[in-house]
Formats: sequence, structure tokens, C-alpha cells
Amino acid sequence: MSIEFSKTNGLVPVIIQDFASSQVLMLGYMNEEAYAKTKTEGKVTFFSRSKNRLWTKGETSGNFLLVKDILIDCDQDTLLIKAKAMGPTCHTGSTSCFKEETSKGFLYQLEQTIQQRVESGDEKSYTRDLMQKGINKVAQKVGEEAVELIIEAKDSNDELFKNEAADLLFHLLILLKAKGFSLEEIEHVLQLRAK
Ligand code: AMP
Ligand code: ZN
Ligand code: ZN
Ligand code: ZN
Repeated sequence: MSIEFSKTNGLVPVIIQDFASSQVLMLGYMNEEAYAKTKTEGKVTFFSRSKNRLWTKGETSGNFLLVKDILIDCDQDTLLIKAKAMGPTCHTGSTSCFKEETSKGFLYQLEQTIQQRVESGDEKSYTRDLMQKGINKVAQKVGEEAVELIIEAKDSNDELFKNEAADLLFHLLILLKAKGFSLEEIEHVLQLRAK
């Protein structure tokens, strides 16, 4: 199966996705020449409609997109490229041209919020306060929430059960942070097991 440039007047849309996080980084267009250059060089080159020429993403900024995988859609008129970004992809300095909604999901946003709270020096932050009490205290809290979840699992109150499950996930994220691990690393462990 190969991409058909003739179907769309020689220009196909290309979605760029971060190979590790699955975050959508940007969308560009390629003509046949840009596609060929991308494949031979392993760096994403678009056909820029505004510049009206081939544009290697990163040519001035150095923030190249290194090709990890190229996928073609069901009717061969759109590309999805999984890439490793060498820096922010958006010219505004953001990781992605799209905002948070296209990133990996709420738990990852929460993980970032926890990081921000810890760094903030905000006296009122529960998260920061708990972190400062140390790893043992955080781990103990995870244990307490797990026990509360066990208790609620025996009862039949859905709302209480869901709340305790949320408490457990939240405190687990704090424990991961306290230990210096990321949610992504844990996800990776699970992914390896599934193979
Ligand atoms: P770069 O390809 O990163 O060296 O950037 C070169 C120029 O391309 C910038 O000055 C912007 O005008 C434009 N540009 C860079 N990144 C993007 C992007 N993600 N979306 C649209 N235009 C971009
Ligand atoms: Zn299509
Ligand atoms: Zn942008
Ligand atoms: Zn609880």
C-alpha cells in the first residue's frame, strides 16, 4: 500500500505524532518530493503552502522531527508520522501546535499539576505538604487509601467506591513523583507485560 498524491492534487495532509507520548504535534502537507526527502533523510520535510517550497521542519530552529514510523490511512490520502521531536514543534515554543486536549489524557495532566504544586512553594498545597513529609508518609497514605477502597468495594455505594478509587490514583501519582518515577514508566512496564 502506498500513498496516492494524485487523489488530492499532489498534496497530502500529514499528522505528526510524538512517537513516545502519542501527543499530536502538528499538521503539515507533503507533495511527492517532500515525502521522498522525508524518507531518505529520516527528517520530516513538508511542502509549505505559505512558503511555496519544501520546508524541512527545524531548518532554522534546529527543532527537527526525526521519523520513527510512517503510517498511511485507509484510503491512501493521509499520512501519520510518528516522530521524535528534537525540540518544541510549534514556532511559539510549545511542544505541540495544539493545546493539552490532544495530549495523553487527564492522568498525565494531573501528574504535571502535582509537579507544579511541589515546585510552587504554595503553603496551602496539600500535595506539596504531603510530599514534604517524605516518601514513607506518602506511601502510608497510598496504603490508607487502598484500605478505604477495599472497604468500599465490599459495600454497594458506587459514589463512595469511585471516590476512593480516585483518592488511590491521586496518591499513587504523588508516590511516583516522590520516588522520582513517571506515570509513563509505569505504563511502559504494563505495555511490556502485554506483549
Ligand atoms: P523551523 O522549521 O522550526 O526552523 O521554523 C521555520 C519557520 O517555520 C518559523 O519561523 C515559522 O514561520 C514556521 N514554523 C515553524 N514551526 C511551525 C509550525 N509548527 N507550524 C507552522 N509554522 C511553523
Ligand atoms: Zn483518507
Ligand atoms: Zn504551532
Ligand atoms: Zn480516601
